Amino acid sequence: MMGPSHALSGAAAWLAGSWALDQFAYVSQTPLEVAVGTAICAGGALLPDLDMSGKVTRNQGGATVARTFGVASLFVAEVVEKFSLGVYTATKLKRDPRRDNGHRTFTHTLPFCALLAWGTTALADSYGYWAVIGIVFFMSGLALRGLFDDWAERAGWVIVTLSSAAIAWFTAANLPSDRGYPLLGLAAGVGCFVHILGDMITKNGVPILWPIPIRRRMWMMIGIPNSMAVKVGGKVEVVVLRTAFTVISLLSIGGLFVPGVLERFNLDVWASK
Ligand SMILES: [Zn+2]
Repeated sequence: MMGPSHALSGAAAWLAGSWALDQFAYVSQTPLEVAVGTAICAGGALLPDLDMSGKVTRNQGGATVARTFGVASLFVAEVVEKFSLGVYTATKLKRDPRRDNGHRTFTHTLPFCALLAWGTTALADSYGYWAVIGIVFFMSGLALRGLFDDWAERAGWVIVTLSSAAIAWFTAANLPSDRGYPLLGLAAGVGCFVHILGDMITKNGVPILWPIPIRRRMWMMIGIPNSMAVKVGGKVEVVVLRTAFTVISLLSIGGLFVPGVLERFNLDVWASK
């Protein structure tokens, strides 16, 4: 899937999950917690494609996500891609093909999602305020880039960077550390996982089960058969899936907040008295 679809799927997953928790497990969140979780999850759902490098010196290429903070994120993508290729080459078995590009390898595995979730929470726990600023800045930048791609394209990376900084500052100042910090990690990990699921329905699959060897291959690509795969950027993705993700997001937001608003104004329409 393309960047905006990945980001939307992350937002939809987090909002639907929050609604379900609220509805069935009575876990309620403040609007800020829901908003931050959604932004981080949308950002996390773009993050694995930070392994698609472009041409740093000419400021060209790279995935949507790599263009978030201009040349800086393009450089990060280069590092992530080479690192992933390193992990691939170091752990590949004889039957794994040789590769010269790290795209869809290490960042598209379950251990990476877990590492991302754990690392995010650990950073916030150890370094507090400044770590939260850094994490939210980076992830909400990715989310803005993915969710509002037309706007981000027109506004350019400077505006995206400034907007992310404002969101980060506001969040760090208002997010409680007890529940807020683990929430950041969980949202990042869930987003990453949703990205991998999204790639599994497109051609070629992802090595989601690394490092479990399957048929003497460490990097077994797993996904639905190519004949059934969703075409990247095709009608199913752009029209059907994006509409579905948007509807799920809006319904979840409605389910989460409409009852509270009605209650505040004593308009208890659900319960017949
Ligand atoms: Zn991907």
